[in-house]
Amino acid sequence: MYMSPNTTGRIIREKIGHPGNRSVVTIGPAGERLIPYACATVDRTRHFGRTGLGAVLGSKNVKGFAIIGDQPISLESNTNYKQYRRVFREIYKKTTETNLMAKYHVLGTAAGILPLNALKSLPTKNFAESYFEEAENISGEYFASELLGKRVACGGCPIGCIHLAILRERWEKGTVADIHSIAVSYDYELIYALGSNLKIGNAKDILKLIEAIEKEGMDAISTGVVLAWLAEAYERNLISPKDTEGELIRFGRVDDFLSIIGKISKATEESELYYTASKGVEALVEKYGGNDFGIRVAKLEPAGYRTGYYAIMGFLVGGRHSHLDNAGYSLDQKVLNKPITFEQGMNSLMNEEEWRNVLNSMVICLFARGVYDMNTTIQALESLKINRTDEDY
Ligand code: SF4
Repeated sequence: MYMSPNTTGRIIREKIGHPGNRSVVTIGPAGERLIPYACATVDRTRHFGRTGLGAVLGSKNVKGFAIIGDQPISLESNTNYKQYRRVFREIYKKTTETNLMAKYHVLGTAAGILPLNALKSLPTKNFAESYFEEAENISGEYFASELLGKRVACGGCPIGCIHLAILRERWEKGTVADIHSIAVSYDYELIYALGSNLKIGNAKDILKLIEAIEKEGMDAISTGVVLAWLAEAYERNLISPKDTEGELIRFGRVDDFLSIIGKISKATEESELYYTASKGVEALVEKYGGNDFGIRVAKLEPAGYRTGYYAIMGFLVGGRHSHLDNAGYSLDQKVLNKPITFEQGMNSLMNEEEWRNVLNSMVICLFARGVYDMNTTIQALESLKINRTDEDY
């Protein structure tokens, strides 16, 4: 029997009965079935989303695990405590008292929907368009004012950028109509992949799609791009109602997409279309064609930026295949006002990637990358007697 990531997480939490610092990582049916874009869910609201960590865990028969931290971390005896406290205070102050992190707390990454739409860079209708006329209704501002229930944070973080919307749904219990509420975490990438890219202009409908994908334990970005390919292939008659087993798959129709998410996650070889869809856009194109609208970069369905060449180059060369490796989408926006040569652009991408690898090695949150500039990083390491200079970088 398949089990959702959150049900598995609840069982693990009940079993370990440890209320303190702990994190639970789980996979869903997609991970059990080794779907290449299965994700690993962390504490219900965060995900190792991209490139199939859920399938890796599934292949090892790991349904979930908990990490418990109940011991203090002792510093080395030669730690420079005075410097350590000073650097710690500086980092804390930059994090909580400057504007560096404010946007992540207030609207979260969903703040990017309207600016990217204004730049005509918001992927819409399977990337065929870059402007969504209903963007206002799915913006970070709309979610925050109409649907936001609460913000939560990763352990120990003072920011709290995880935005949880409350989805209230009516359900029938016996003969009595009742309401139940679910907290659904949302982000820019999910809103693009399940909103504008599918032409869904209703915020609650996006939450329904996120929740359906959450239950299956699939990467929401890849799933959204797969759904968009299916809708375009259906629109162009590349796939027929026989292929879809009678399902309609149309842009802008949330119920169409809700009907097929579970079919993709649990498809067997007999369900040829959904089974192929469970392998990703590359597999769909290989089997059915539609190469010119099969959106993938180096076989991976991309994050939500139609900003320009550097976003694409960044996806291509990024060490983890992630938009966060070097933020080409950000460079595209910077060069709008200050053009540079292609060589300068690629150098800039590579420098960004190298520095992010340094930061990733220190396990910082990449949202806080503005806090950890070179000088702060060197001083933080120095307080632990790890001596580095900018020349080491
Ligand atoms: S650690 Fe990063 S992702 Fe987690 S709440 Fe803080 S800012 Fe957000």
